[in-house]
Amino acid sequence: MTNSVRVRYAPSPTGYPHVGNIRTALFNWLFARHHNGSFIVRIEDTDVTRKVEDALEAILDGLRWLGLDWDEGPEVGGKYGPYFQSQRLELYRQTVERLVSQGDAYYCYCSPQRLKEMRAEQVRHKQPLGYDRHCRHLSEEERSAKEKEGVTPVVRFQTPLTGQTGFNDLIRGQVVFDNNTLDDFILLKSDGYPTYHLASVVDDHLMDISHVLRAEEWLSSTPRHLLLYQALEFEPPQFAHLPMILGTDRAKLSKRHGASSITEYRGQGYLPESMVNFMALLGWSLDDRTEILSRQELIDNFSLERVSQTAAIFNHEKLYWMNGVSLRELSHEELLRKIMPFLESELPEEVKRPISKEYVSRIVPLIRERINTLAEAATYADFFFLDELEYDASSLMGKKMSAETTLKALKAAQEKLSLLESFDHDSLEGTLRSLAEELGLNAGQLFSPLRVATTGRTAAPPLFETMVVLGKERCLERIMVAMEKLGNN
Ligand code: GLU
Repeated sequence: MTNSVRVRYAPSPTGYPHVGNIRTALFNWLFARHHNGSFIVRIEDTDVTRKVEDALEAILDGLRWLGLDWDEGPEVGGKYGPYFQSQRLELYRQTVERLVSQGDAYYCYCSPQRLKEMRAEQVRHKQPLGYDRHCRHLSEEERSAKEKEGVTPVVRFQTPLTGQTGFNDLIRGQVVFDNNTLDDFILLKSDGYPTYHLASVVDDHLMDISHVLRAEEWLSSTPRHLLLYQALEFEPPQFAHLPMILGTDRAKLSKRHGASSITEYRGQGYLPESMVNFMALLGWSLDDRTEILSRQELIDNFSLERVSQTAAIFNHEKLYWMNGVSLRELSHEELLRKIMPFLESELPEEVKRPISKEYVSRIVPLIRERINTLAEAATYADFFFLDELEYDASSLMGKKMSAETTLKALKAAQEKLSLLESFDHDSLEGTLRSLAEELGLNAGQLFSPLRVATTGRTAAPPLFETMVVLGKERCLERIMVAMEKLGNN
């Protein structure tokens, strides 16, 4: 084994990658980058029945989006390939033959029916579940009789019946399992495909993996893997099992918590920077305070010592907040570029396409402090694009204003504004402030009907800037519509 760090992310293309999966990828990637090691992607596609067609593309797409580049694996290749387990069947077969011939594995001819009955029996007698080792000691004759019947066997590992298997988990410390709690697990299925256990051990060995960082759910597989390493006389890698991720209700993270496919977050307008920052803190921390960390800071500081043993809590609110922070760190140009496709796809159909980038460029400064996701740009700024605004006439009336006084104020504003030669921030402010005084209103009493008239909402970006962007003609038109609404009320 070389001294360098070689870690792998080994997804099965059986579904879209969710936050839990990708957190594993991220921790491996951070660990590799911190140690100047290699980050390897290996596709564990040996469960033919559970394969999901575009899952692989979604996984790679998710990694690319987050900037988790891999040094070896699909598309980039590498000298330890192939990186798809389905293309390594011969290696597994050879290993299994070796295990059988040295007496560490055996052929099992039990039918699914027999296994089902065995299990039912175990359940009935409240016995521990697991294979009863029926075929472990078949005689040569019994074996060839089965072969003659044409039964295709599976190959099982001959797990030691006594003793213990332990290891030093880099996160949890010493972990020990009694061998008699492990059954004779399957290595090779009857379709010739390896099980996860076999393929994982063979590949981690052949790919010279130094550290296995994986989710806690795999902890109980590790003693099986270690027994295999022993039987094969391979030096095992070091293991580190990452803490579970729970929702704020402390239930295991599921779709219900909004944790579906990682690419859905992209669709909702989350930035890769904040996703990376957020996921890094799902089980790791720099200290007890720091929340916002750049990619480079994460790489510089990542260590397994600071990965917690207790479950991490997935707090969507925090992600939402972090995304707002990342979003505000973008330059005007970057934010503009990222917002454009969201406006194109999210604005109501009646808005004419293509959306003018130049126009959006004037809107961005007005909304950047107010949105937390890119998709919110469309909901927050739609009034800049719509021809007709929908709002209730009563929302036009400010504090202590009646329909009558509001109408009067709007009419006066309309007259003043129509006389303005230059429709800029300062002239608007000057004109409208002195108008409020003239009318004996406080500023809010005049500005709030104007805000609703021009934007259709009570909470909107700063009024004068907004009116400037909308332009004189559109503002006057909208004030007119508002007066009509009030009149009809
Ligand atoms: N294929 C397994 C998974 O989908 C990999 C587990 C491991 O990292 O060993 O998570």
